[in-house]
Amino acid sequence: MIEHADNIGMGAVLRADVCVIGAGPAGIALTLALAERGVSVLLLESGEREADAATQALYAGELANAQLHSPPDTYRQRRLGGSSAIWGGRCMPFDVQDFETRAQVPHSGWPLSYEDLLPYYPAANALAEAGRFSYDARQALGEQVAPMIAGFDSPSVSTEGLERFSCPTHFGQRYAGRLQNATGVRLLLGANVTALHLQADGQRLASVTVRSLKGRQFEVAARSTVLASGGLETARLLLASQGRTPAGVGNAHDVVGRYYMCHIAGQVGSLRVSGSPRQVRHGYEVSPEGIYCRRRLQVVASEQRRLGLANAVARLHFARITDPAHRSGVLSGLFLSRRLISYEYSRRLQGGQTTLASYARHVLNIASDPLDTAGFLGHWLLKRTLAERKFPSVILRNRSNLFSLEVHGEQLPQAQSRVTLSDRRDALGMPQLHVDWRYAQADIESVRGTLDVLALAFEASGVARFDYQRETLEEDLMRFGAYGGHHLGTARMGSDPRTSVVNADCQLHSVRNLFVAGSAVFPTSSQANPTLTLIALSLRLADTLATRLARPPPLQLHALAEAA
Ligand SMILES: Cc1cc2nc3c(=O)[nH]c(=O)nc-3n(C[C@H](O)[C@H](O)[C@H](O)COP(=O)(O)OP(=O)(O)OC[C@H]3O[C@@H](n4cnc5c(N)ncnc54)[C@H](O)[C@@H]3O)c2cc1C
Repeated sequence: MIEHADNIGMGAVLRADVCVIGAGPAGIALTLALAERGVSVLLLESGEREADAATQALYAGELANAQLHSPPDTYRQRRLGGSSAIWGGRCMPFDVQDFETRAQVPHSGWPLSYEDLLPYYPAANALAEAGRFSYDARQALGEQVAPMIAGFDSPSVSTEGLERFSCPTHFGQRYAGRLQNATGVRLLLGANVTALHLQADGQRLASVTVRSLKGRQFEVAARSTVLASGGLETARLLLASQGRTPAGVGNAHDVVGRYYMCHIAGQVGSLRVSGSPRQVRHGYEVSPEGIYCRRRLQVVASEQRRLGLANAVARLHFARITDPAHRSGVLSGLFLSRRLISYEYSRRLQGGQTTLASYARHVLNIASDPLDTAGFLGHWLLKRTLAERKFPSVILRNRSNLFSLEVHGEQLPQAQSRVTLSDRRDALGMPQLHVDWRYAQADIESVRGTLDVLALAFEASGVARFDYQRETLEEDLMRFGAYGGHHLGTARMGSDPRTSVVNADCQLHSVRNLFVAGSAVFPTSSQANPTLTLIALSLRLADTLATRLARPPPLQLHALAEAA
């Protein structure tokens, strides 16, 4: 059933087995899985079915350094489906080593292993509509599949790993029907949770306060409550709920909001491959079940460990779009139309020379490359705009065998990178977020180490040569600051309550019936984009909750009035 918060009685107290706060991929996956197990769920979603400016403004916040991080109301969507309304759909699981304690990654080591999460990945893949859970090129594309780069075979570098692409599935649109019809599910739109209230002993959550932008206010008291409000907003809710704990809920050791990670990403260097361009797989390949897949280069785990490198991948990419020297009409067309593209996707088209001369060179590129430009427009219209499963991104025909590398690397967790509460308040009176994202020199050096391994491996193979400017690497990686859209680690998982917020079950160490679903719990960031793993964790949490609720403890209703 889907209702609106404005239709709930003022001061009402709603009850359910589980209250889930936030209907993005995490909250929706969790809710559907709980409903399948007969658990009643009240799903509270701040947003509406479509984007709404007043609701989106609740995400506004402050930045410590605007060069390093985008405004917090960008790269997030406060609406049914959450940021999946605009995500790119790139899916891949975390690697085995991501869960391990690694000497080269401070604060690493999850309290669960890859094997613990593995049973949940196939269902996560299905929800994301990314096809089979198969991320090895031979398994996914067939034993006879051509190598990524003919003649390149290195014991240090794997080219077999794949990323698979979701439609990209907008979870709000795709699953609204199932949420509407699922037995025991009640989804409230326009329902902003503004405070979490602990019982007197501080060990259980009694209720949450819900407010609508039109002034409706009520409480929800559930046996268990799950924060599925995204990597930044989860920390905000915990920090802002200061009724019984002045530092915020679960924050006795000042860990909430710390260890905030994104990814270290950028376009670097130049890779020249010898031989025929046909022998290089740099773009998308389609799996037998019709899923777009793409290969990546990755230093193997044993070499990462031996050389003290964090996890990272690199894709073959085209020349820097902003520089008209690429002479591609397609790229120049993209550059010139960047104002028509949403902020999140045009940001990396900003910068570079924007003189009249460079504009003229971009126009000239289009004029002198009419066939490719027209061909690209037709392909984009058919395969992207009109297609339900969309071609994931712009890929140029490879004529020259000349590429740059697009790096996507793990960010090392550090306590100083953090979000806190600002003095400013939103329209509902909640303190806004203050985002102070930081990276360390070690992040840059780790990418440097990865690039050096790749360069050596290419040289040894004799089929390619990779060069990059060592002195500008930091600038290349930090040109656009933190990789937008991946908000990780602000309520990290661990076994020690002094250095983590939730345990292996995603339960707050200090509050027995309060849980977190989403990338806030990631203690380390992997090379992988986060959504597949946060969905898998949400499905695992559904199992945990269903098992626990089979023997529900008596609800201490008297505590509700006390705590409110
Ligand atoms: C441009 C862009 C591209 C991306 N591309 C990829 C990609 O290719 N691959 C990938 O893996 N990831 C990608 N991501 C990241 C991906 O979108 C997120 O990982 C994913 O959406 C997180 O899901 P979530 O449910 O945890 O949080 P969200 O999607 O943020 O959902 C949180 C929900 O909680 C609601 N909410 C927030 N506060 C409250 C409150 N106080 N009360 C009630 N409800 C609340 C919000 O309205 C929202 O619906 C991308 C993100 C962006 C912005």
